[in-house]
Amino acid sequence: MRQVVMTKPGDVVVEDRDDPTILEPTDAIIRVTATCICGSDLWPYRGVQDVDHQVMGHEYVGVVQDVGPDVRTVKVGDFVVGSFWATDNTCEICRAGYQSHCVHRTIMGSIGTQAEFARVPLADGTLVATPGQPDANLVPSLLAASDVLGTGWFAAVAAEAGPGKTVAVVGDGAVGLLGVLAASRLGADRIIVSSRHADRQALAREFGATDIIEERGDAGAQRVREMTGGLGAHSVIEAVGTQEAMMQAIHSARSGGHVGFVGVSHDVSIPGSLLFSTGVHLHGGPAPVRRFLPELLARIWDRTINPGKVFDVTLPLDRAAEGYEAMDQRRAIKVLLTPERDR
Ligand SMILES: [Zn+2]
Ligand SMILES: [Zn+2]
Repeated sequence: MRQVVMTKPGDVVVEDRDDPTILEPTDAIIRVTATCICGSDLWPYRGVQDVDHQVMGHEYVGVVQDVGPDVRTVKVGDFVVGSFWATDNTCEICRAGYQSHCVHRTIMGSIGTQAEFARVPLADGTLVATPGQPDANLVPSLLAASDVLGTGWFAAVAAEAGPGKTVAVVGDGAVGLLGVLAASRLGADRIIVSSRHADRQALAREFGATDIIEERGDAGAQRVREMTGGLGAHSVIEAVGTQEAMMQAIHSARSGGHVGFVGVSHDVSIPGSLLFSTGVHLHGGPAPVRRFLPELLARIWDRTINPGKVFDVTLPLDRAAEGYEAMDQRRAIKVLLTPERDR
């Protein structure tokens, strides 16, 4: 099969690799219908994170081709969506809703879903089948549920977005934009997004943003405080992962407010004195997407949300390198890749 490999920072190729096979009785093999490039894939691409001939991709939807003898909840032919963590969904941590910290977890990025086929460990705990074969125009939204929608949703829940709340969003990538969608659907009164890009501002408004600010960092936080009677937002979504973004998030929150942080943290350090003096709640990390998948798939299937709009570029898998370049240069918000050659 064809599979995307990052040989070194800035170099993405498509290689021929062996098709995956069932290794454990709980495995499933899927034919990947659609996969995508994640903002987190840009960290190794930019050399911020080590990379050496690494298979890429952790977001996926597809059709089950084969299952191990212990798989019960999905069967050959099912269209499935899975989280970017493979998890049992039965251990104490999973049952508490923190599947991304499952005691038996495997990150799908180590398997690489930017490929024609993928082995999904712990299939029963990881995959959710849709009610039928989706229309082609639903596929991008279903794919978004695999990570960016689930991650944005978790960020909004962690930030306790809801009725009566003002939510500030730091980060206008796919996760930040879908955090806006989540906060809106969770009933937030006001959603303030920090963005300087016209296309992203427009999508943020479509997803439910009420206010756009162009300031960043301390100035961004200051602006949010001015807009909220000097208090700060009740809820803040941090979807970047840098020191500046985390500080903007904490300083945008009111005392006693909640920050949901889901940007993959890179060299962020938070002074204890700041946490002590602000009284802000911080909750985040890798999102337990599996917790939200059944609800999110139902909303997508009913066409009440359209998170697939974050994909503004679609390319065949063979042209993955162009997709990485487009996202690196911020010419694309998020790139969808289609492995099938005849599409
Ligand atoms: Zn991702
Ligand atoms: Zn578990």
